[in-house]
Amino acid sequence: MINLNVQKEWIITHSHLPSVLRRCPKCGIKTEFRNSKKFRVNANGRLIDVWLIYRCSKCETSWNMTVWERVEAAGFDEEEYKGFLSNDPVLAERYGNDRALFAGNKAEITAEKPEYSIEERDTSFPCSMEYHMEVHVKISFGFDLRVDILLVRQLGVSRNIVKKWFDKGLIFNQSQPLSPKSKAKDGMILQIKKDVLTCPTGDSII
Ligand SMILES: [Zn+2]
Repeated sequence: MINLNVQKEWIITHSHLPSVLRRCPKCGIKTEFRNSKKFRVNANGRLIDVWLIYRCSKCETSWNMTVWERVEAAGFDEEEYKGFLSNDPVLAERYGNDRALFAGNKAEITAEKPEYSIEERDTSFPCSMEYHMEVHVKISFGFDLRVDILLVRQLGVSRNIVKKWFDKGLIFNQSQPLSPKSKAKDGMILQIKKDVLTCPTGDSII
């Protein structure tokens, strides 16, 4: 029997980054400051400061969120440093989603759920016969997304069905069982096991 089922890749990216709510000195009211995806780097002798720049959505006034403060240049990751200098959008997304960083900057962020998009690609690896589906997950650091919610959205099935999969212990990450509240993590291999008791082919569970 030829296994035509290949492993998939789900690439999860933000279609919208959180904004910071703060009092704009020019507008005189609290406004939404949007992530400009630009960094400001200050190399002062051996010490480096990095900020991510936010801009008022009404008047473009900038607010700099501290990313790194007075860090020894010698200990700085060279690739990341180059990324800051070239305004790498991946870094702007990573730090623009870092809850601890927002908290450290005493920044209030927009409360709406972050929007995201999922791109699905086939890989060249066959899916193991015991699984209905195997998915390599690529997701930015700091992204807060539960596995059950991801499955409901991407597979177009009801929450009830996904809940049953978890209840039956059919959902794994690299052979380790997952709970519905598990978070989607970069590099995880999400596996949906065939339910041999009720559907030997695995076809009917999706
Ligand atoms: Zn303003």
